[in-house]
Amino acid sequence: MDFTPLLSHTDRCFIAGAWVPPAVGDRLTLINPSNGDALCDIARGQGADIDAAVEAARTALAGDWGKFTAAERGRVLAKIGQLVLEHADELARLEALDVGKPLTQAKADALALARYMEFYGGAADKVMGDTIPYLDGYTVYTLREPHGVTGHIVPWNYPMQIIGRSVGAALAMGNAAVLKPAEEACLTALAFAELANRAGLPSGALNVVPGLGEEAGAALSAHAGVDHISFTGSVPVGKLIQRAAADNIVPVTLELGGKSPQVVFGDADLEAALPFLVNAGIQNAGQTCSASSRILVQKDRYDDVVAAMAGRYAALRTGPALDDLDVGPLVSQAQKSIVEGFLKQAEGLETAAKGQIIDSAPAGGAYVAPHLFAGVSSGHKLAQDEIFGPVQVVIPFDDEDHAVEIANGTDYGLVASCWTRDGGRQMRMARKLRAGQVFLNNYGAGGGVELPFGGRGLSGHGREKGFEALYGFSVLKTVAALHG
Ligand code: NAD
Repeated sequence: MDFTPLLSHTDRCFIAGAWVPPAVGDRLTLINPSNGDALCDIARGQGADIDAAVEAARTALAGDWGKFTAAERGRVLAKIGQLVLEHADELARLEALDVGKPLTQAKADALALARYMEFYGGAADKVMGDTIPYLDGYTVYTLREPHGVTGHIVPWNYPMQIIGRSVGAALAMGNAAVLKPAEEACLTALAFAELANRAGLPSGALNVVPGLGEEAGAALSAHAGVDHISFTGSVPVGKLIQRAAADNIVPVTLELGGKSPQVVFGDADLEAALPFLVNAGIQNAGQTCSASSRILVQKDRYDDVVAAMAGRYAALRTGPALDDLDVGPLVSQAQKSIVEGFLKQAEGLETAAKGQIIDSAPAGGAYVAPHLFAGVSSGHKLAQDEIFGPVQVVIPFDDEDHAVEIANGTDYGLVASCWTRDGGRQMRMARKLRAGQVFLNNYGAGGGVELPFGGRGLSGHGREKGFEALYGFSVLKTVAALHG
């Protein structure tokens, strides 16, 4: 299939600035989730390819890339951002075909990738150390240095955004990166490597090895030559990554799942809240770590909110990504089965509303209509587990304390929001909600290049995005000079 001139080698790895076939020679097939057809073959990278990529990264650090000044790193990142902008439509189409994401949402991801490059390009030469008052006769200061080789294991749901935030920050700090994209969706990772190469990123500074998690991913996370691992994905795999990193005593950033609540008090501006309440649940067919899958509503407005959300749900249309409707397919038949398994456990719950799958949607596509369930108790499986599909539950609450108890009553803690006109309550809720990000009278599922992001509890640890990520992707060195 002729996707775009950006991808002449879909079935290769990008190592040391060149497109190379996987050492063992095996391939995997990418499937278009909108119709079930094969899209193309990709490399099934394995241990030997990871070895070569890590070595290439190490060589880059000792060579041209290691000699780049911070300003030069910033300039090349900005150039990559410019090329991403110029190719945003092609990238969006690739993501739509690969992930099943409606074109408009895929385009937003391409623009976010460009923004990450701009942001981290601009920030590269603005990370500074401190001078520390110490004993008489000393001058003490701190330096921020790159870890060295950074490993980046990313999922399929937002490849461009996650590559942007993690690889962008790592390169800005002078690390050399080895990227393992998801086996379900890796085309934009390959296109990104092509654009980085065209922008003049020195060879080996970025290497991409597609492949299976248990092969290429496991080899990368356990590699003794990797100095930092950034993992975005599921909780069970996050635990494996942390264990592998423990053996090598290297730091990890874990960006894992979520069950993020929006808390709607009786005094909320419902008209303003409504689009956020629904969109944050169905964006990318609910396959968003920070999807708002739980809507908590104070009892005096409960019926109003359920009715208003149900009205929106009834109008939601699901279909092929290139049709650019409200909702696309799930990423795969496997993901569809998982979501349908949850829907089976919804028996007995009140289905407040359902969206529709358009008649012309191909039978081989991985479609699930959006579902809204009302009157759900906080302990129900659908209110506790990450579903990763277009499913939201509405839970009633009595007062502020009750809302906090329910909102914080899962094992996750990624994002939360609170809708109220009461300023004091806004401040109290911002403090009490257990989450890495709290939004007041808005909700930002997936957005915010500038905003530090990360989890509590099973949602993981460490922070990406914003300036904060630059600290995570660097090591602090203290220099103490005794000069008398
Ligand atoms: P996943 O954990 O199955 O896979 C993520 C990545 O890990 C893929 O590249 C995969 O190949 C790799 N992998 C799988 N097994 C591995 C192993 N044994 N060793 C090393 N790597 C391995 O997750 P997924 O299904 O692709 O993504 C969905 C999950 O990701 C959800 O839980 C979602 O919440 C989470 N997620 C979190 C964030 C965040 O920022 N917090 C963002 C997006 C997705």
